[in-house]
Amino acid sequence: MQVTGQIQQVREFVKTWRKQGQTVALVPTMGYLHEGHGSLITRARQENDKVVVSIFVNPMQFGPNEDLASYPRDLEKDRAYCESLGADLIFHPEPEEMYHEGFSTYVDMSILTEELCGLSRPVHFRGVCTVVSKLFHIVQPDRAYFGEKDAQQLAIIRHMVDDLNMDVEVIGCPIVREEDGLAKSSRNTYLSAEERKAALILSQTIELGKQLVAEGEKDADSLVAKMKENIEKEPLARIDYVKAVNGLTMQQQKNIESPLLVAMAVYIGKTRLIDNFIL
Ligand code: AMP
Repeated sequence: MQVTGQIQQVREFVKTWRKQGQTVALVPTMGYLHEGHGSLITRARQENDKVVVSIFVNPMQFGPNEDLASYPRDLEKDRAYCESLGADLIFHPEPEEMYHEGFSTYVDMSILTEELCGLSRPVHFRGVCTVVSKLFHIVQPDRAYFGEKDAQQLAIIRHMVDDLNMDVEVIGCPIVREEDGLAKSSRNTYLSAEERKAALILSQTIELGKQLVAEGEKDADSLVAKMKENIEKEPLARIDYVKAVNGLTMQQQKNIESPLLVAMAVYIGKTRLIDNFIL
């Protein structure tokens, strides 16, 4: 496995692979890898000849009061993990390599980015679309792998690829959870022991939501109200949002009908966690 921070080197590796007729996958991450990322890398490994994992804590997708400086990083551990899963290349650029002086071009999507996480993180998806679009241009992958954990991000990337005629197949992978149900996240490391217990309220409420739908709940507002009520029972939890939206457009939905995304962001102490289910 190779590791590079240089765009030019990535291009050279990919050029060589292409000459050999090999297919190339990209798994974009911010590092501090866990089994959620691992599931993406493993799937990419199964479906492609070469797997590139990008590890880049993208400053552009963090707001001024967010956790850019404190975001956990451990390149050595990530390197060993990627190697154990059979990745071929880690692309780990410095911010200056991705955003040279005078950088001024952005990929800015409307509508889908204005709901859910876009409301509380106004610059987030512009940063995500811009960096993913840059990564697609640098690596030119056949396939790119994203987690359903970030369901809005996945929908936005699919929409961007379609709108801008990008020649890449976007593959969504299911949420990987801890044994007790908490969705795996690099940010779980921020939680104290007490908060870690309280954080179970997210996955428990997702289970409640699924159960209500299975039992025949038809009204989105009523579903969301019951889910919110459940979260409010946990004293350490503060709701950012709980919403039922159309899974493609991210617009609020009245009825429980497919394609439906029921998504939440909840603060446990100072840590903002997300979870969802898709119908
Ligand atoms: P991040 O490093 O948090 O930006 O995540 C990189 C990719 O891994 C994104 O496509 C995420 O959706 C995906 N991912 C993160 N956590 C999980 C998880 N628990 N299950 C599945 N995919 C995940």
